[in-house]
Amino acid sequence: MYDIAILGAGPAGLTAGIYAARGGMSVAVIENQAPGGQAALTAEIENYPGFETISGFDLTARMVAQCEKLGVVFVYDNPTEIALNGDVKKITTAYSGTVEARSVIIATGALPRPLGVPRESELLGGGVSYCATCDGAFFRGKPVAVVGGGNTAVEDALYLERFASEVYLIHRRDALRADALLSDRVAKSTVKILWDTVVTDLVGAPRLQSLTVKNVRTGETSSVRVDGFFIAAGRKPASDGLTGVALDESGYVLTDDEMRTNIAGVFAAGDVRRKSLRQVVTAAADGALAAENAVKYVGALKA
Ligand code: NAP
Repeated sequence: MYDIAILGAGPAGLTAGIYAARGGMSVAVIENQAPGGQAALTAEIENYPGFETISGFDLTARMVAQCEKLGVVFVYDNPTEIALNGDVKKITTAYSGTVEARSVIIATGALPRPLGVPRESELLGGGVSYCATCDGAFFRGKPVAVVGGGNTAVEDALYLERFASEVYLIHRRDALRADALLSDRVAKSTVKILWDTVVTDLVGAPRLQSLTVKNVRTGETSSVRVDGFFIAAGRKPASDGLTGVALDESGYVLTDDEMRTNIAGVFAAGDVRRKSLRQVVTAAADGALAAENAVKYVGALKA
């Protein structure tokens, strides 16, 4: 039995691990992918204080090492059942048995949201990708497109400039949602922005060969020749299977300012939580608060 189990090894979960271990707790972090979360897939992070620029992989690897040094146990497995009620929480995993803990911190983060264009899943790995940093290098010397107008889409487009012969950024409106700094950077780059444009079809089999796009103002359709298509149409919270945890209408976990959920002893931190700013620094801050309150909760249970 652990004092605290943390679901997810992104910046929120890893920071919670550091704070909980330093608070004298026994801690297990359960992660179903590689550690680091979405941050680990970010090529350059330029807004985490103390680092003018650092790769997401390096930043999160440091957090993992810090956790390990403090004795945090990592369980790399898929939770199949999560039972959060009562004084003993139970997380059943596919291969590593059941992790029991007095308190749980949900830090499962968010996942890319599919665009919803026909054949999107069929062409995944055949030219369609949700991760420019993972797959960008496969498109050296080839034309690629990114869809979306947020920070992820702009960062992806700028990252893909390193490899691709041409980068298109396809956005459904006439203004980007991305930060001013990134918007300015992309405006000055070689990225070709297709404004007011949506992707209606993915053409090619077994690999993507082109996109059919439609200008939403004029109704005109055209074809864009690309080998790679990177989808950055936002994220959805990874909150499936959290039975009994109060979520908002979009599936984000509801907490108070102290990261408490509606279930005693269950806290949430990071991108899975309903909040206004999703960044590594706010994930880390959530993780610290969640751990601090979990430590207090477990302390009171043991008293
Ligand atoms: P986001 O900010 O939600 O942006 C999603 C983009 O996709 C929007 O521009 C949206 O268009 C577009 N979109 C959504 N559904 C679409 C559809 N069906 N068809 C066409 N376009 C569609 O998502 P994100 O860029 O992944 O960012 C997620 C969070 O992480 C944000 O809070 C972001 O600030 C943060 N983040 C921060 C950084 C950083 O600070 N460097 C980097 C990456 C992510 P509309 O604009 O028209 O809605």
